[in-house]
Amino acid sequence: MQASDQLRSEYWVLDFDRTLFSIEKNIEQFCRIGESLGLLSKKSIVQEQQHAESQGASFDVYEFIVQTYGLDVWDQLSTAYVKSVDATCLLLPGATELLDYLAVRSIQHGIVTFGSKHWQQLKLDAAGFENIPSIIVDTPDKASIVKTWLDENGTYTIPDELVDDPKIGTLAVRSVVIVDDKSRAFSSLPPRTKGYWVQTGHDTGDKTLPFTTTVQDLYQLIRSLVEQG
Ligand SMILES: [Mg+2]
Repeated sequence: MQASDQLRSEYWVLDFDRTLFSIEKNIEQFCRIGESLGLLSKKSIVQEQQHAESQGASFDVYEFIVQTYGLDVWDQLSTAYVKSVDATCLLLPGATELLDYLAVRSIQHGIVTFGSKHWQQLKLDAAGFENIPSIIVDTPDKASIVKTWLDENGTYTIPDELVDDPKIGTLAVRSVVIVDDKSRAFSSLPPRTKGYWVQTGHDTGDKTLPFTTTVQDLYQLIRSLVEQG
């Protein structure tokens, strides 16, 4: 370890979609701005989304737009969207407050989001999260990702992309906290990892997951942190 490296007590892994960010409001605003610029039809997006969901597939808006309208339209629309959308209307209740809570207390945190690269990145940009370290991963099982950070000393080495301050150097922590709206995120929590399952109503999964606390929303999560002191 270098002199600048630090062992901190914990790192917070935040999910993005449906935990911090409203995917419904995002698609609504994205289509509204796209239509106002005459670049796409909301109807075609909604139809394609319903079709994909009825097949049990995930809908990749980026793929759909590039294939249907071309890469130029995606470039124009994504730039215009990020510039003109009001980020505050896309965030879920308590998202700003939770990020402030962590930042004020210098608790290291970052976003680990599952999905296709271009679409997830557009949403992170639309949310105004360019200053929050983030990675896009290929599984919703966040516990399995955190497990890969565990080293033989029993500490977690956080990937550099998830550390916002280069002065910290390599960040090692004793424990990790995962906040997610999907129960699948917590399927096999590694040692000293704690989960907050935010119940947005889209995932009724297993309510008896060990080491996981269920909260109705992020305000309830913050209240429980304040109570714990
Ligand atoms: Mg989610």
